[in-house]
Amino acid sequence: MPRKKGKGESIKNKEENNKGHENKKKSQKKAKLSDEEFNNFVTSISNEIIDRFGLDLINLSPNDIKDLVEEIITSIVESRVTKPSEESLMKKFVNLKDQFMKAVAARLIERDEIDSRDRVEFIIAYAPEFAGKAAPKLYKIVKKINAPDLIENLRQLWNNYGNRTPIRCPVCGFNSVMPDMNCIVCGAILDEKDIKKDINLKDQLVNLRKIYNNSLLEEIVNSGYIIYDGEIKPPSLQEKDKISVKLHLSKEEKSILLNLLRRNV
Ligand SMILES: [Zn+2]
Repeated sequence: MPRKKGKGESIKNKEENNKGHENKKKSQKKAKLSDEEFNNFVTSISNEIIDRFGLDLINLSPNDIKDLVEEIITSIVESRVTKPSEESLMKKFVNLKDQFMKAVAARLIERDEIDSRDRVEFIIAYAPEFAGKAAPKLYKIVKKINAPDLIENLRQLWNNYGNRTPIRCPVCGFNSVMPDMNCIVCGAILDEKDIKKDINLKDQLVNLRKIYNNSLLEEIVNSGYIIYDGEIKPPSLQEKDKISVKLHLSKEEKSILLNLLRRNV
């Protein structure tokens, strides 16, 4: 029985999709519901879920989740020998609630359908790892809808699940500065001065005495720059696989190091 093959498959991950294709052919023959029964279940369960899972609070309608519901009912029907009742299907949905909500959240992100504080909170609550990865997108939305208190949540999720770099952006406060000095969260284009100020470079230079011996300090003075990857390093200690920026030293900054060397304290 042909049933909108492929539709709704997008929320499953790719591995599952590949497996799914072969299984589907076989199991479709075993489908136990008529098209009419199937469609009735989809409509009525979509309606109930919107209400029961509180999805109306984020302004979703039964139509918005219909294809997800369809996909899940299809897989439930396929795995059963007997015809399911609406009640038993609904029970399954309740058991799968977290997964279902996560799929809804993923879709809102994918389709750029995040236009309210409620939706951002929904995504943070049900799909924190997706929220972390999508922090650049969500940051801009949160700014736009003026919900600055959510930024800290996003920052933490970015640190846990996003593409965290060792260098903090002075504009948005996320660890998201790339070696080209661009921030991948807020889009700021920074220069060396911004980073130097943010990390209190001068104070840190004074403390280098405790960290590096004379020859490494001399190396910094002679090369004229430091590598910053969350720590200040002479060029020779740069780690290849760590994201870092190059900060060229001003006369004044160099003289701080020269003083340390001269006094040799
Ligand atoms: Zn930024």
